[in-house]
Amino acid sequence: MRREFLPLSKPDIGYGEIKAVTKVLKSGYLTTGSKVTEFERAVCNYLGKDLFAVGLNSCTAGLYLSLVASGIGSGDEVIVPTWTFAATAHVVLWTGAKPILCDVEESSLNIDIQKMKDLITRRTKAVIPVHFAGYPCDMDEILPIAGKNGIAIIEDAAHAIGTEHKGRKIGSFGNMAAFSFYATKNLTCGEGGMVVSNNKRIVEKIRKKSYFGINKKAFNRYNKKGSWYYEIEEMGYKYNMDNIHASIGLIQLKRLRKMIRRRRAIADLYKKNLDVRIRRTKDDSQNLHSYHLFTIAIDKKIISRDLFIKKLKQRNIGTSVHFIPLHRHPYYKRLYKKTCFPVADRVYEEILSIPMFSAMSDRDAYYVIEQINDVLKRLPGRRKGG
Ligand SMILES: *Cc1c(COP(=O)(O)O)cnc(C)c1O
Repeated sequence: MRREFLPLSKPDIGYGEIKAVTKVLKSGYLTTGSKVTEFERAVCNYLGKDLFAVGLNSCTAGLYLSLVASGIGSGDEVIVPTWTFAATAHVVLWTGAKPILCDVEESSLNIDIQKMKDLITRRTKAVIPVHFAGYPCDMDEILPIAGKNGIAIIEDAAHAIGTEHKGRKIGSFGNMAAFSFYATKNLTCGEGGMVVSNNKRIVEKIRKKSYFGINKKAFNRYNKKGSWYYEIEEMGYKYNMDNIHASIGLIQLKRLRKMIRRRRAIADLYKKNLDVRIRRTKDDSQNLHSYHLFTIAIDKKIISRDLFIKKLKQRNIGTSVHFIPLHRHPYYKRLYKKTCFPVADRVYEEILSIPMFSAMSDRDAYYVIEQINDVLKRLPGRRKGG
């Protein structure tokens, strides 16, 4: 057995990122400035559509400001999958609106579009689809439903930079998409986020809101170019991205294609070699899965998920559970009467995420495979063919 613990995820930071940060630190201009603008443009270029972008300090801030910019507030409803991180639903509560939780589809763990349709009322103002693990929601199906009902689509693309839906990158389907550059995500700045949209007005509105409601010219006010004068045009927040984070993001973006290729290669090893009793989420040739996460599920009649996690930990393998459905958390339980989401509840008991990061070696992947298969092989009471 290997001595060293293999974590679930580890940021892939190279010399390039270190050099870029050093350069910004020496430049004397640490906060929002030219590096952020450069990063915003580079992301739009990468996504390959006529898009506009605003760099922020998190994806959560991006989701929140997208709701605010869409005029969502008290009395409104926003449909959110229950299979997600706190951020997706908390931001709805921040606006005063109500998150309406929706069950997910078993094969992808993305929002169940049929059930989403049934949840639409005249109060529904938006839906926040999450591209779980880096596999895209069926945007071709969601777009016309949202269009017909006049509701906004704000994509939680925290897992999905580089993900493609039918040959087109995630980020240009909905009205707005928010990416995360958190430490474990496919592209990381440590912390950071970005909203992209094909609507320039919305992006500029979010930019202003991200910095106290002050016009963007204020960012130049300490330069020779700038002026001391600024105006607060509306209420706003402090969610801006800075040059230090943006400089890391710029290097990461240059490496992103390669990093995603690596994740996909590891996924291939897993798919080919893991015990046949392991269930995996959907992947197909129509879409490009960017494998932010690799989740597996095992029938609880074979082994309980919790015991499985414990056994892998003993073998120095880090795992986690994505996600504990929102409706199972005490806070959200108190918020809703109905807390029965059959698919999410069933899958939750059997699912776990296994190590997946671009700096992982083939040997690491084979170690995970061998250990998982060995745990299953050693289970008592198993007969050949049974
Ligand atoms: C990580 C994550 C977020 C939040 O991203 P931050 O950049 O940390 O704010 C939102 N939604 C999902 C599904 C996530 O996994």
